[in-house]
Amino acid sequence: MDDGLFSLSFDGEMRADSGALTQAAEDFGHVVADRPRAVLRPGSAADIATVLRFASEQGIPVVPRGQGHSTYGQAQARDGIVIDMSALDRVSHPSEDHVIVEAGATWADVLRTTLRQGLTPPVLTDYLGLSVGGTLSVGGLGGTSHRYGAQTDTVLALDAVTADGRTRSCSPTESPELFRSLLAGLGQCGVITRATLRLVPAPARVRRYKLFYRDIDLLTASQRVLMREGRFDHLQGQILPGPQGFRFMLDAATYYTPPAAPDDRELTADAGHEPGSEEIEDLSYWDFADRLSDGEAELRRLGAWTHPHPWANLLLPNTTTDDFLARILTGLTPDDLGAAGLVLVYPLLTRRLATPLLRTPAETITFLVAALRFPPPDPATVRRMIADNRSWYEQARELGGVSYPIGTIPFTGDDWRHHHGAGHPAFLELVDRFDPARILGSGLVRES
Ligand SMILES: Cc1cc2nc3c(=O)[nH]c(=O)nc-3n(C[C@H](O)[C@H](O)[C@H](O)COP(=O)(O)OP(=O)(O)OC[C@H]3O[C@@H](n4cnc5c(N)ncnc54)[C@H](O)[C@@H]3O)c2cc1C
Repeated sequence: MDDGLFSLSFDGEMRADSGALTQAAEDFGHVVADRPRAVLRPGSAADIATVLRFASEQGIPVVPRGQGHSTYGQAQARDGIVIDMSALDRVSHPSEDHVIVEAGATWADVLRTTLRQGLTPPVLTDYLGLSVGGTLSVGGLGGTSHRYGAQTDTVLALDAVTADGRTRSCSPTESPELFRSLLAGLGQCGVITRATLRLVPAPARVRRYKLFYRDIDLLTASQRVLMREGRFDHLQGQILPGPQGFRFMLDAATYYTPPAAPDDRELTADAGHEPGSEEIEDLSYWDFADRLSDGEAELRRLGAWTHPHPWANLLLPNTTTDDFLARILTGLTPDDLGAAGLVLVYPLLTRRLATPLLRTPAETITFLVAALRFPPPDPATVRRMIADNRSWYEQARELGGVSYPIGTIPFTGDDWRHHHGAGHPAFLELVDRFDPARILGSGLVRES
C-alpha cells in the first residue's frame, strides 16, 4: 500500500519487504504477531520527525521498537509503522559523571564504553541486550534498584521527537512535563532518540552470594532485613524449579576493588539461610553484569529462546507479598515455569522509584514478583498461562499491587485507567498535548 509514505525521503530507509515486516511482527514473547505496513530504519532523528508528522496527518499508528524484548506485542503496530531504533545506537565518549547515548544502543553497548573510563550506569537490567529507549520507556529495574531506583531515575536529560514531528530536548528543569511523560511512558508521548545517563564509578570485582532458604517466607524476611541494613550492593532472589519442587534463593552481591576485599563470613552471617547452602563466586564486574549471556546462548541452542514467553511482572506491597506468593505457589508446578524458568522476587524501597509514570504500590517497600516462563511452544499451554497471568494480576490488584507493564497480561482500557489511578486524567492531558492524533502506543491494549 503506497499512501505517500514511500515518496517521503529519509537518511535511513523505509522497508516493506516481507523479511522486515515479519521481523517487526515478532517479539521475545512469541505470542502476538501484528504485521506493520512498513518499517523505518532511521538514519537520523529527522527521519523520525518526518514519519511522525506524516503518520499524524494520516492517522497511521507508529510504534518505536528497541530490541523487541517485550512479551505481548508492546512494540508492534498492526498495519502501522514500526521505527526500528536499533539503527540509532551511538554511544558518545563518557565524561566524568555522565554519558550521552542514542536510544537504540543496548545496555551492553553503553557499559562496554563506560567501563573503559572505569564508570558504570548505577542500575543495570539483568540482561544487557535490551535497548536504552526500551527500558527507559518501561522503568528498568535491577539488583541495585533498592539503592538507586529504576533506570528512569538515573536519567539527566532526553532528546525526543513528539508525534507532531517536533524534535525536543527535556530534563527535570527544561520541558519537565515532556520529560515526565517519556520516562516509563511506554512510548505514548514521543520517541526517545537520545538520553543523558548518570554514571558512577565502576567496581573492579563482584563477590556473588547465592544462599538457599527452606521456604519463601524465610527468603522474603531475610531480603527485608538485608535491604534495610544495606548489606549488599546488589539484592535479588529467585524461586527456582527443580526435580524436588521449588528452591528459594537469595542472589546478592558486594562490589569491590582490590586491595579491599569482602568478608564472606560477615556478609553471610545471620542471613537466615540453610547453613552450608552458600554458593560464592568472584567475578569481574563485566562478567557479573553480563551474567545472562551464557544462559542466552544455551537457550538459543536448545530453541527455548525463540519459544513463547508468557511472562507476568507485578509489583506488590510489602505487607501482602507473602500472601500473594503463597497463593501463586499453591497452584504452581515446575512445569508452569519450564526448565529454564524462574520467579524473580526482590524488594525495593518505594521512595527510590520516583518516576511518576512507573506505578508502584502505596507502601514503603515494594516487591517485584516476575514469573519468567519458558514453556514448550504449545498454543493451549500458552493460552492457559496467559489466563493464569491475568488471574495473578487481578489477585495482585486486590492486594494493592500493580502491573510492571512489560509482561503478557491482557489489559483493557479500564485496566489502564486503574493502572494510572488518580494520575489518569493528567496522563491523558500529556497524551493530548504531545500526541493529539493518538498514533503512538497502539501495541499496548490487548484483550484476552
Ligand atoms: C531476557 C530479558 C531480561 C529482562 N530483564 C529485565 C530486567 O532485569 N529489568 C527490567 O526492568 N526489565 C527486564 N526485561 C524487560 C525489558 O526491560 C522490557 O521488555 C523492555 O521494554 C525491553 O527493551 P527493548 O529494547 O527490547 O524494548 P521493546 O520491546 O522494543 O519496546 C518496549 C516498549 O518501549 C517502547 N520503546 C522502545 N524504544 C523506544 C524509544 N526509543 N522511545 C520511546 N519508546 C520506545 C516500545 O514502543 C514498547 O512500548 C527483560 C526482558 C527480557 C526478554
